[in-house]
Amino acid sequence: MKAMNDLIKRIIREKGLGSPDQLAKMVLQDATIKAFLTKHQANLSAAQITASLPVLYEFYSQKQQSNPVMAGYEPQLFLAGSVIQIKYLKTAKQLAAEQERRVKRNVQLVNLPLKLRQVNLYDLDRTPDRLTALTKVSQFLAVYQQGQAPKGLYLSGDFGVGKTYILAGLANAVAKLEKRVVFLHVPTFIASLASHFADNSLQAEIKRVAETDVLILDDIGAETLSQWSRDDVLGVILQVRMDNSLPTFFSSNLDLTSLESHFAETKDAIDPVKAARLMARVRFLAEEVVVSGPNRRN
Ligand code: ADP
Ligand code: MG
Repeated sequence: MKAMNDLIKRIIREKGLGSPDQLAKMVLQDATIKAFLTKHQANLSAAQITASLPVLYEFYSQKQQSNPVMAGYEPQLFLAGSVIQIKYLKTAKQLAAEQERRVKRNVQLVNLPLKLRQVNLYDLDRTPDRLTALTKVSQFLAVYQQGQAPKGLYLSGDFGVGKTYILAGLANAVAKLEKRVVFLHVPTFIASLASHFADNSLQAEIKRVAETDVLILDDIGAETLSQWSRDDVLGVILQVRMDNSLPTFFSSNLDLTSLESHFAETKDAIDPVKAARLMARVRFLAEEVVVSGPNRRN
C-alpha cells in the first residue's frame, strides 16, 4: 500500500494536482472508466478503487496521448481477481488494415498492372452487354463461398470491353474469402517461361500456378505457343485444375472455336488432335460468356 501511495503522490506532483481527491475526480469522471467501475461494482470496494488509481490514471493518460509506439493499439481495463489492470488491444482500424493487407496478399498478379488490385466487382457498371458476365461471376462467388467448386467462366469478346476488369473484380472478391488467386497474363507468362530454365524453377512455377485456389488466365489465345508450351505447360496446368476441381477463369479475344484453331497451330506444326485435347479441358473448366460493348480504353 505504501508503494501505491508513493506512486499516487508522484503522479499528483508531476501533474501539478492538489490532492489524491483531485486525481481521483479527474480519473473517475472519464466515461469509459466510469462505465468499467459500474460494470464491476459488485466486485470492487472503494479501497480497491483507490489502490487502483495509478492504473486508472495510466489508462486515462494513454487514452489522451497518441504514442507512436502504441499506434494501432488501444488500452482496455480488465479485472484480474480484485485488481484492475490494463491490456492493449488492436484497434478496429488496425484490424481492418491488417485484414486488407492479408486480402491483398491473396491475389498474386503475374505480369498484370497493379491497378487491377483496386477493382471492386460491385463498382463496375452493369451495362446490358456485360450483365450476363457480371451475374455469372456473382453466382460463382455465392456458390464458391459455400465451399463448392463451380465451373469457371470463359469471357470472350473484343479488345477493351472490360473482360480483364471483370475478372480483376472477381479476383479481389475471392481474396476476401481468404482464398489464393493467381491472375496471370498468358502471353507474357508463356514468353517468360524460358527465364526459368537457368535456375530450374520452372516446375515449381507451374505447380504454384496450377494448384492455386482460383486461377485466372487472362488473354489466352494471344500467346505464341510451341508444342512444348501448349502441351507441357498449359496442358499440364489445365489438367491439374480439372483433376482437383479447382475453379479456373479465362479471358480471350477469341471465341472457343477460334481458340481451338489457335491451339492447333504452333510454331512448327499443325496438330488438331492435341488442340482438341486442350479444348476439352477448357470446356470442362469454364462456360463461355460473350462480353460486348464499346471499347473502354482511352
Ligand atoms: P479487355 O480485357 O476486355 O480488353 P479491360 O478490362 O482491360 O478490357 O478494360 C479496358 C479498359 O476499360 C480498362 O483499362 C479500364 O480502364 C476500362 N474499364 C473497363 N471496365 C470498366 C468499368 N466497369 N468501369 C470503368 N472503367 C472500365
Ligand atoms: Mg484484357
